[in-house]
Amino acid sequence: MTEIVILGAGYAGLRTLKELQKSKEDVHITLVDQNTYHFEATDLHEVAAGTQSKEKITYEIKDVVNSEKTTFTQAKVQKIDRDNQKVTLDSGESLSYDYLVVALGFQSESFGIKGVSENALEMVDVDSAVKVHEHIKQMMQQYAATKEENYLKIVVCGAGFTGIELLGSLIEGKKEFAQIAGVSPEKIQIYCVEAVTRLLPMFDEKLADYAVKHLTDWGVQWRTGKPIKEIKPGVVVYQENAETGETKELAAQTIIWTTGVSGSHVIGESGFSERRGRVTVSADLTDPDHKNVYVIGDVSAVMDPETNRPYPTTAQIALKMGTMSAKNILHQLKGEKTEGFTFKSQGSVASIGNTHALGLVGKSAVKGYPASFIKKMIMNKSLLETGGIKEAMAKGRFDLYH
Ligand code: NAD
Repeated sequence: MTEIVILGAGYAGLRTLKELQKSKEDVHITLVDQNTYHFEATDLHEVAAGTQSKEKITYEIKDVVNSEKTTFTQAKVQKIDRDNQKVTLDSGESLSYDYLVVALGFQSESFGIKGVSENALEMVDVDSAVKVHEHIKQMMQQYAATKEENYLKIVVCGAGFTGIELLGSLIEGKKEFAQIAGVSPEKIQIYCVEAVTRLLPMFDEKLADYAVKHLTDWGVQWRTGKPIKEIKPGVVVYQENAETGETKELAAQTIIWTTGVSGSHVIGESGFSERRGRVTVSADLTDPDHKNVYVIGDVSAVMDPETNRPYPTTAQIALKMGTMSAKNILHQLKGEKTEGFTFKSQGSVASIGNTHALGLVGKSAVKGYPASFIKKMIMNKSLLETGGIKEAMAKGRFDLYH
């Protein structure tokens, strides 16, 4: 029997699993993840802001595992040995495979900036998102006890998709924060420090301005064109003037780091040829050095022929890679030629709070409530396709009418 090991139960890994479980081939699958649950990574900002519970964005992995075909192992992957076709886990166990699917996802990227890991909060998984919310609540309690203004200040570092979506949710969270602090919501101060001046460069200026204007109207205070140089305890140090090198400090008791991500550290530590934890894969999504190893999702870099740069890492592309890796493994099992992966983005939509969003659907710009509706429908579709009807009914977003 052919042994297929899938590392990671995120969007990419679970999609591969789902497709392989449908096959009639004589295969056994082992799925490995450090958690017993899958989480919707596109929704972490809501958990961090406390506007959504962690239960709403997670479901048990066992619910999508067909135990006749698949064994689920909860463990952390330590190392992948491609030459000996083995994966070492933190439990001490080692798994052998005929085919391997590496879908280990992303981690926060500090770009070597001093003090980030010690003094800023990351938002990369359910635990870290819950920690952000808990931290904010504690700071609000501290304000109630001390009346020290910095406890009411929250800084989001970086205004990429993640930062923008987080800002929108934090605005919605203000009511809860203010109640704990015993102040009115306007007293909660939300800042964003961002290196570039033109935000959301993937959208045209009009669309990007829509997001910035709404967030500004809702009280976000921007420091754009200000690269962050250091995070000290309770202080963000950013460059005020590029010519003189002058820096300024912004004090705040909550500092959240959303300046970008890299692929899992396991990739580099396992000797893959990589950049920022991402492997530039062959056209069929295999590791260029090993035809039985597929690298998909946020640990994978696929070149976009139009821009000559890798496609951005999104849930959408991860799901498509999941389907393709399963298809190609099945081709290999049958002695057939593998297929090349092609990707046509269906667009991307960023939420700003629960009822506003903006983005591109195909080539059409969408914004406002219709965009928010579309975003929730996209999330429901992905839940339905990977988690099935049970998860979609339980965890789907049906608060569509406002
Ligand atoms: P990102 O790389 O897209 O954005 C990071 C932002 O931080 C950039 O604007 C960058 O200029 C800024 N930055 C970097 N270093 C800085 C510094 N030292 N000081 C100040 N600012 C700095 O990262 P992300 O937002 O985490 O997104 C990661 C990936 O996930 C992207 O591909 C994104 O498209 C995707 N994503 C998609 C969605 C969606 O489709 N709704 C949501 C979230 C993330």
